[in-house]
Amino acid sequence: MFIKKLPDTIQKLEILSRGAKYDVSCASSGVQRKVSTGGIGSTLSGGLCHSWSSDGRCISLLKTLQTNYCHNNCAYCINRCKNSIERTIVAPEELAKITYEFYRRNYIEGLFLSSGIFHNPDRTMELMLDTVKILRKKYKFNGYIHMKILPGADDNAIEQAILWADRISINVEFSTSSSFDLLAPQKNLRQIINTMKKINSIREKLIVFSKEKGYCARSGQSTQMIIGATPETDRQILKLSEYLYKKIQLKRVYYSAYVPVNQDSFLPQFIKPPLLREHRLYQADWLIRFYEFSLDELLTENNPSLSEDFDPKVSWALNHLDFFPVELMQADLYQLLRVPGIGPISARRILCLRKRGVIDLETLKRLGVVIKRAVYFVTIGGKYFGDVKMDYSLLLEKLSKCNSTREIVGDLFHRELQPI
Ligand code: SF4
Repeated sequence: MFIKKLPDTIQKLEILSRGAKYDVSCASSGVQRKVSTGGIGSTLSGGLCHSWSSDGRCISLLKTLQTNYCHNNCAYCINRCKNSIERTIVAPEELAKITYEFYRRNYIEGLFLSSGIFHNPDRTMELMLDTVKILRKKYKFNGYIHMKILPGADDNAIEQAILWADRISINVEFSTSSSFDLLAPQKNLRQIINTMKKINSIREKLIVFSKEKGYCARSGQSTQMIIGATPETDRQILKLSEYLYKKIQLKRVYYSAYVPVNQDSFLPQFIKPPLLREHRLYQADWLIRFYEFSLDELLTENNPSLSEDFDPKVSWALNHLDFFPVELMQADLYQLLRVPGIGPISARRILCLRKRGVIDLETLKRLGVVIKRAVYFVTIGGKYFGDVKMDYSLLLEKLSKCNSTREIVGDLFHRELQPI
């Protein structure tokens, strides 16, 4: 009789990591908290996937699933029940131990743990929580842990996950209920948003009552949206993001260009994932969070798509030429933040430095301003430095030369840190 050899832990991890790779919501923002004495690991120096911390550092996380068995059948997902793929499940002790061993060998700085839904959400959450608790209690692991909340998880499981993880996330996936009906009918937009609200309120209470003890998901809550698998407009996507940031205090919304892994009549047949669109959404998201732009300024019901040719800030500037030039020796923070090429850091530096005297182009460069863009929208002491006058068609031509889409190849999170 043929007896199939059971996979060892590393083989299981290979299978499970393949199933986890399409989830991009694991970028860490790091977290400042006290660590227990006698333990190992620290969140301060960190995160086998690469993520970016809030200050731009690259950290590595063991990104895996507890299991790739799933009773759901989301059309876009490699792990859906309909797919005939190699499946496995890793026991909590097994996963905790290998995470600890990888950490000791300096392979990783943390764990990103997600899962397919095995039997039901509560049973699966129980396995995930056991893994995390063994890591924290038995192995005294103080490193970064990002844990997924599964749709339909009960309140107790959510509370426990918050207590033991540094970051919590549940993927919202789409911004409209009709997209869920089309591609993930076993999930529900309202239920996911309600779970996010619940996470937020439980987390706030735990932080207040736990004082300095506990992990309490202090690095906040994040989510992911799939871009290009469904017909939502950029405005619909960003409208949900704006709501999540302002009303549920989400730390990050990640945008994941749809990568086709299944054949399904409900899915679009793309040749390439829409990376440029993903990039523009990150730029607009950045403007809303850090540049004091509102969504209505960037997109309207009649103009719901971001430009492919220009980043959203240049697009806004070209359509609001009456707002420019901005005089750098007098402008306030709001005005400076609207100048293409000036970011929040360089804007504050300008406000500080100009008290000491007149600034010039060389100084602006040193302050981090992207001169090739800013020069067409500012004056310094009344002088304009652009080589063409402020005319829509002339600027369109000039700026299209310094707005190459080749720049989208590479890492998005890192480039977000540069001024838009
Ligand atoms: S519930 Fe998650 S793992 Fe299961 S099919 Fe849907 S997206 Fe995939």
